[in-house]
Amino acid sequence: MSELVLVINAGSSSIKFSLFETSAADPIVLFKGQMEGLYVEPKFSAKDAADNKVANETLPSDAPKNHDYALRYMLNWLESRIEGRSIAVIGHRVVHGGTTYSKPELVTPEVIAGLEALIPLAPLHEPHNITPIRVLEELLPNVPQVTCFDTAFHTTQPELNQLFALPYEFSQKEGIRRYGFHGLSYEYIASVLPEIDTRAAEGRTVVAHLGNGSSMAALLGGRCQLTTMGFTALDGLPMGTRCGRIDAGVVLHLMNHLKMDAKQIETLLYKESGLLGLSGFSSDMRDLENSDSPRAKLAVEYFASSVVREAASLAAAIGGMDALVFTAGIGENDANTRKAVCHQLRWLGVELDEAANAVRSSEPRRISLADSKIAVYVIPTNEELMIARQALACIA
Ligand code: ADP
Repeated sequence: MSELVLVINAGSSSIKFSLFETSAADPIVLFKGQMEGLYVEPKFSAKDAADNKVANETLPSDAPKNHDYALRYMLNWLESRIEGRSIAVIGHRVVHGGTTYSKPELVTPEVIAGLEALIPLAPLHEPHNITPIRVLEELLPNVPQVTCFDTAFHTTQPELNQLFALPYEFSQKEGIRRYGFHGLSYEYIASVLPEIDTRAAEGRTVVAHLGNGSSMAALLGGRCQLTTMGFTALDGLPMGTRCGRIDAGVVLHLMNHLKMDAKQIETLLYKESGLLGLSGFSSDMRDLENSDSPRAKLAVEYFASSVVREAASLAAAIGGMDALVFTAGIGENDANTRKAVCHQLRWLGVELDEAANAVRSSEPRRISLADSKIAVYVIPTNEELMIARQALACIA
């Protein structure tokens, strides 16, 4: 008998869900959707397994606009679709596991207390990950819940790569260290690599998760050795609206000379920088590539050159590179960015197959020439499937 697995990915203004069925070897999606616009104008939408839109509703204006109500609404909708079948387990994406959690955890009161203790490390995200766990505990008290952490995959990084060169006590006592994020995406890529390229799976692979949020990771035998995001999801590559790597002295200057306070600096670095800040009009790579604006061009070039620099730096950390993998929104869809990155990495041994790179497909594929020293792949990521697998494994 197949089981149903509900995957929840909650943020500050949206809750995404996927419902999986486990009759096949790997869970398959029955429905996926989201409640967006929380606290403003919540809208619920959902698609079925064949990608047909099966819900597109704006909530009544007098309905509560919070996470709690959104989850109840979502669950009601799902229950009307699953015809009396019950959910076997719920998997939650949780942004931060700190140094406490290096693998998925079955939710208990102790785990909830542990997550609350981590709120200072991710104040903008962790509370929104905890709320759905509490609400679903009340709504479905007999269904086990599992937390799947975005940081867990990076706990294999050697200590050297987890440190900042601050006084050592800051990492030991205050937890100020490089955690890394997007771990569920990297773990998914590592899980499919053995079927695609055993040399890449067993060897030195750099994965570029390039989306609205972007980061890269260096894997040795499928285990993370170094990643570009650090203490927060602000470090490393520039992103849609986040600045990426920045000299910490800039923050001091903003405070001391421009008299900006912490909230203003947070808004600047998280919401007004990156592709949006450089171009002046959009955080979406598609808009920038369709524009003639010199600043859009600058933003696109800055992004690709940052990927190149990080790729070379990550390769140095693992003693070379057997394979380079592109994934997420930009990595999977943007042939121009892939081409710019690969051309600038020719000196390292990347030979792009231009025709293969130009093909649009949702399947994993190789885009380097047969004799390229470094094999280059596009592999669509699937963080929800990773969570479903982890949740099932945790209750098995
Ligand atoms: P998130 O980090 O929100 O999960 P995604 O991984 O979905 O983001 O990536 C979203 C980004 O992918 C968008 O900002 C857009 O710039 C980019 N993107 C999607 N499709 C294309 C495309 N065909 N060409 C260029 N960029 C694309």
